[in-house]
Amino acid sequence: MAHLSRILGGLIVVSGKPRLILCEGVKTAIERSLSSRGPREYDVVVVGGGIVGAASARELKLRHPKLKMAILEKEHEMAMHQTGHNSGVIHAGIYYKPGSLKAKLCVEGMHLMYQYCDEKKIPYKKVGKLIVASDEVEVGRLAELHNRAIQNKVPDIKMLKGVEEIQNIEPYCVGLEALWSPHTGIIDYGLVTKQYGVDFKEKGGEIYLNFEVNGFGQSSDKNYPVLIRAKDGQSVKSKYVLTCGGLQSDKLAELSGCPRAPRIIPFRGEYLLLNSKKASMIKGNIYPVPDPRFPFLGVHFTPRMDGSVWLGPNAVLAFKREGYRWSDISLSDLVDALLYPGFLKLAVKFMLAGSQEVIKSAIPALQVRSLQKFVPSITAADVERGPAGVRAQALDMSGSLIEDFVFDMYKGQDGAAIGSRVLHCRNAPSPGATSSLAIARMMADKLEDQFQL
Ligand SMILES: Cc1cc2nc3c(=O)[nH]c(=O)nc-3n(C[C@H](O)[C@H](O)[C@H](O)COP(=O)(O)OP(=O)(O)OC[C@H]3O[C@@H](n4cnc5c(N)ncnc54)[C@H](O)[C@@H]3O)c2cc1C
Repeated sequence: MAHLSRILGGLIVVSGKPRLILCEGVKTAIERSLSSRGPREYDVVVVGGGIVGAASARELKLRHPKLKMAILEKEHEMAMHQTGHNSGVIHAGIYYKPGSLKAKLCVEGMHLMYQYCDEKKIPYKKVGKLIVASDEVEVGRLAELHNRAIQNKVPDIKMLKGVEEIQNIEPYCVGLEALWSPHTGIIDYGLVTKQYGVDFKEKGGEIYLNFEVNGFGQSSDKNYPVLIRAKDGQSVKSKYVLTCGGLQSDKLAELSGCPRAPRIIPFRGEYLLLNSKKASMIKGNIYPVPDPRFPFLGVHFTPRMDGSVWLGPNAVLAFKREGYRWSDISLSDLVDALLYPGFLKLAVKFMLAGSQEVIKSAIPALQVRSLQKFVPSITAADVERGPAGVRAQALDMSGSLIEDFVFDMYKGQDGAAIGSRVLHCRNAPSPGATSSLAIARMMADKLEDQFQL
C-alpha cells in the first residue's frame, strides 16, 4: 500500500483539510489527458518564462484584465536560464549611450524595481557600486562614464579622487579614481520573476511549465488562428503570441518564418567564489572601467544576497546554448554557431581577447590577477570555481554584437499568415533584468499597437 501511494501520491490532511498529493508522473498524465481534449484558447500567449516574458505578460494582463492569457515555459520552473544565472545587480544606468533605449529603460527600470520590491517585500540590498580606474587611460575613460551617468540622470553619482576617498567606501580597494553609485543594488532576479508570475496568475493568467514550444501552425479555428505546439504533443491556440525566448529567441523566430539573422551566440560567463573569510572584506560591487573595444563590463566583485561574493563573469563561447560547463556540448548548437558567417567575422576580430579568456577560464589564478588591481590582498588561494551563466548574445551577419532590443515578425506577402500574429523579442541584453518592468511597459505598448489590443 505504502509502495503504491509512493507511485501515485496520496491523500494527506493539512490544517484539518484533506489534500490530494500527486506524484510527477501522475500529474503529467492528467495534464496530457486534459490537453488531449483539445487545445486551450487564449487571446495572447507569451512564450518564455524568464524575467522579460513574465514582466511583459504581467504588464499586459494588468492593463487588460479581460484578455485571456498564458505563459508557456519549457522548464519545470520559471527563470531557469539567464534570469536565474546572472550577477544579480540592479544597475543604475551609468554605461549606456545617453538617449539610447538601454539608458532610458535601465534608469526607469531601476526606480520601478525598487518600488516594486518595496511593495511586494522582496529583499534587496542597496550596497552601491564603485567603478575603479587604475591607470591614466582608465581615468580618462572614467571621466567619460561620469559624463554619461550625469546625462542619463543616474541618481547621486559621485567621483572619488585618490585611495583615501575610495577606501572610505571600500576599505580594501585601491585605485587612482573611482565613480561611486550609491543606488546600485543586488537582488535575486529568480524571486522577482516568480513574483511577476504570481501577480499574473492572481489576475487570471495561466502558466504552463514543461511546455517546450516547437512549432507555430494555423489552427482550424478562425477566432484563435495560431496553433502553438509543444515537443510532447500538447498544444494551445491563441489570437496573438509574443516570444521572449532568451537563448532560444532566434530559433523561436525561425519557427514562424523569420530569417536566421540575427543569430544568438551563447557566451558563458563563469564566476569564482571568494572564500567566506575574505568575503567580509567586500562591501559592495567593485567594477573595472570597461574597455570600450569589448562588449562586456569586465570581471567584477559582486556581493550576493546570501552574503557570498562572486568574482566574474568572464566571457567564453559556450558549446551549448544552455551549457553552464565546458563539458556541456551540443553538436547542433556548436555547428550552428561556427557556421554562422557573423560568428566567423567576430572570431577573427576578437581572436586574441577570446583566447586570453579561454586561458583565464582554465587557470583561475590569472583571473584573480586582474582583480588584484583593485583589491591586492586577494590571492588565488582565496577563490574556488563558482557558478556560471550564459549570455544570449545576438550577432548580425557582419559579426557585430547587437546592443539594442530586436523585434521581429514574419514579413511575407501573405498578410493572413500566422507569422503576422507572432511577435518575437530576439534580443533583450543586459541590463535586461534591472530594466524588466520598463521593458514590459514598452512591450505592452508594442503589443497594443501591433495587434490593436
Ligand atoms: C552572466 C550574466 C550576468 C548578467 N548580469 C546581469 C545583472 O547583474 N543585472 C541585469 O540587469 N542583467 C544581467 N544580465 C542580463 C539578464 O540576465 C538578461 O537580460 C535577462 O535575464 C533576460 O531575460 P529573458 O527573459 O529575455 O531571458 P531568459 O531568462 O533566458 O528567459 C528565456 C526563457 O524562455 C524559455 N524558452 C526558451 N525557448 C523556449 C521554448 N521553445 N518554449 C518555451 N520556453 C522557452 C527559457 O527556458 C527561459 O526560461 C546578465 C546575464 C548573464 C548571462
